[in-house]
Amino acid sequence: MKRLSVFVASRFLDEIQKDFGEAFSTTFLDTRVPARKLAEADSSFDALLLSIDTPLPAREIEALPDAVRAIATYSVGTDHIDLAAAKRRGIAVFNTPGVLSDSVAENAIFLMLGAARRATESIALLRSGTWKGWSATQLVGTELSCKRLGIVGLGDIGGRIALRAQAFGMEILYTNRKPLPLDHPVRGRFFDSPAALIAESDVFLLACPSTPETHRLVDAELLARARPGLILVNIARGDLVDDEALIEAMRNGPVSAAGLDVFSGEPEIDPAYFALPNLFMLPHIGSSTIEARRRMGRALIAALELWAEGGSPKNQVC
Ligand code: NAP
Repeated sequence: MKRLSVFVASRFLDEIQKDFGEAFSTTFLDTRVPARKLAEADSSFDALLLSIDTPLPAREIEALPDAVRAIATYSVGTDHIDLAAAKRRGIAVFNTPGVLSDSVAENAIFLMLGAARRATESIALLRSGTWKGWSATQLVGTELSCKRLGIVGLGDIGGRIALRAQAFGMEILYTNRKPLPLDHPVRGRFFDSPAALIAESDVFLLACPSTPETHRLVDAELLARARPGLILVNIARGDLVDDEALIEAMRNGPVSAAGLDVFSGEPEIDPAYFALPNLFMLPHIGSSTIEARRRMGRALIAALELWAEGGSPKNQVC
C-alpha cells in the first residue's frame, strides 16, 4: 500500500521526527510556516502533522491544498484548529487523548504543591543568598491533606489528578456538564456549576477544554464566591482565566496562591504575573515528559495508518 505523504508543520524531538520519517513519506519544516505556504508550494500532501504552536484558523484550513485529507495534532486540546472549517472541507482531525494524561496529572500535583508550599518564594530566598536559616515563622504554607479539591472537567486528566489527590487525603469535588457514571473509579461530589463548586473548594483546578463555553470561566464574579485562602490551579488553557481578575484576587484575596502551567496569549503573558510571589508558574510543560512525547507520536502514527486503511481511529475528533 502507498505510504501516506505527510507534511510535518511543527518541530518535534529528533527521535519522534525519525519515527514519523519511518512511518510516512515525510516533509519536515525547519521553521513555522503558515499552512497557506503549502498551498502556494502546490503540494500534494495527504496529511498535515502539527501541534499547538502551529494554529490553524479557518483561513489557513481553507487555503490548504486539495490533496490534504487529514490533520493530526500532537496534543489533546484542539482549540488551535478551527474544527468547523476542517469539517466543512471534509478533513479528518486526530489528536492524542489519554497518552499524556499521567504526565499532565503529575504536573498538576506539582503546581498544587508548589503553590501550597510557597515554592516561588522559597527558591527566591535561597537563590538570593539571604537565607538566615530555619525559623518557625518562615514561609508557612498550607497542607493539602483533608482539603477539598474542586476540579472543573473531571475527564481523563482530571480523573488522574483526582486519584493522586485522594492519595494525599484530599476530598474530590467536581463539575462537568453531566455527572460521572456511578461505576467511575473516582468517588467525587458533583456540583452543577463552577460557581457552586468554587464556593466549597480549598483548591480549584481547571482541567476542561477551552471552548466558547469555558472561555474566561474564572472571572471576578466567580472569584468573589471563593473561600478565603483558595488555591487556584490551571493546567487546561490560559483563556479560561481572566488575568486581571485573578491577579487582583491574588493581591487582595480571596486567592492565597496559584499554580499556572498555561496563560492567555502565551508566550506573551500578563507581566503583572511576574511580580506575584504567591504564583508558582511553569511554561506550559504539562505533557513535556519523554514518556508522553513518545506515546503521543505513536498515537498519531497509528491513527493515520488506520485511517489510510479505511479504519476508524478512536482518536478522531471530526
Ligand atoms: P477529556 O478527557 O475530554 O476531559 C474533559 C473534561 O471536561 C470532561 O470531563 C468534560 O465532561 C469536561 N467539560 C467539557 N466541557 C465542560 C464545561 N463547559 N464545563 C465543565 N466541564 C466541561 O480531556 P482531557 O484529556 O482530560 O484534557 C482536558 C484539557 O486539558 C484539554 O482539552 C487541554 O486543553 C488541556 N491539556 C493541557 C495540557 C498541558 O500541557 N497543560 C496537556 C494536555 C491537555 P463533560 O463532557 O461531561 O462536560
